[in-house]
Amino acid sequence: EVKQKGKDGWHFFSASLEEKVRQKLSISNGLRLAIERDELSVCFQPIVDTHSTHIVGAEMLLRWQPPEGPISPAIFIPIAEMTGSIIPIGAWVFAQACRAEADWRQRWGEQAPGYISVNVSARQLNDNTLLSVVQELVKTHASDPSRILLEITETALMADIDTNLRMLCSLADLGFRVAIDDFGTGYSSLAQLTKLPVNVLKIDRAFVDGLENQAESRAVVKAVIGLGRALGLKMVAEGVENSAQLLELRNFGCDYIQGYYFYRPLTEKNFIDAVDQDIKASKQIQEPPFFFIV
Ligand code: C2E
Ligand code: MG
Ligand code: MG
Ligand code: MG
Repeated sequence: EVKQKGKDGWHFFSASLEEKVRQKLSISNGLRLAIERDELSVCFQPIVDTHSTHIVGAEMLLRWQPPEGPISPAIFIPIAEMTGSIIPIGAWVFAQACRAEADWRQRWGEQAPGYISVNVSARQLNDNTLLSVVQELVKTHASDPSRILLEITETALMADIDTNLRMLCSLADLGFRVAIDDFGTGYSSLAQLTKLPVNVLKIDRAFVDGLENQAESRAVVKAVIGLGRALGLKMVAEGVENSAQLLELRNFGCDYIQGYYFYRPLTEKNFIDAVDQDIKASKQIQEPPFFFIV
């Protein structure tokens, strides 16, 4: 049914609709071959301590670069979820996380960033093979699951809370940590939060965005941080882009910060350089000035 006459007449409207369908189809076909064609990669966005601003961890973010040019995960992830491609792609991402976690521990030892965050979609939690797949990957890479934080969005989590809760409990039993991503956009109740095996809440960027000028956002962020901390959770604010936001979050007691103000998502090589520099800088601070040495 054509509801509106487009700029170029009726034909324009239906052609653009057709174009959209064609694009989705081409993305879903491309995704099926992305792994074997070696078109996937991951980048790492450092997460810092709100007070010291030292790197405490990183979120691993998937990138897809087909020959026609890169496509945002915000576009291809929902399509991968719809077609089921997210299952093999998610396993590939998991393998990267296990590898990176073991690499970092070997590279930096005690000084390694505390954790690596991985996004997991609800479609993966519904998959019966997930547990055996991740167990195998942890073994292959000799990685420590307690240093891997699984991020699931609040909306996806609450859409099928019973199934998700069961799977998250099994993953937590294996030692993985769990974070609720984009927190504040869904509708979880206090009672539900205490039932979940959750370690971290990530406050959605939309609330951080409004911190400086929207009283409502400020109230939500302050209350959520208070609530999370009262429940013994670590609080992460995502999308921090300026110092005003940082100062507010410090005042509210937010533990960790992720955002362009500190770091953009980095290639693995650039991430390694950033951590090296960070370790050097923190040593300089800890070493007493020479006149203190007797
Ligand atoms: P997310 O998990 O909420 O990840 C944070 C997104 O915010 C990332 O976008 C990151 O680049 C962006 N970001 C971080 N700091 C800032 C900032 O200061 N300002 C702004 N404007 N943006 C910031 P990205 O990489 O495009 O990923 C988008 C979404 O795609 C992610 O949102 C996540 O839901 C999904 N995603 C990414 N990788 C994976 C994956 O491996 N598996 C699954 N299932 N989903 C993924
Ligand atoms: Mg995330
Ligand atoms: Mg997020
Ligand atoms: Mg988000």
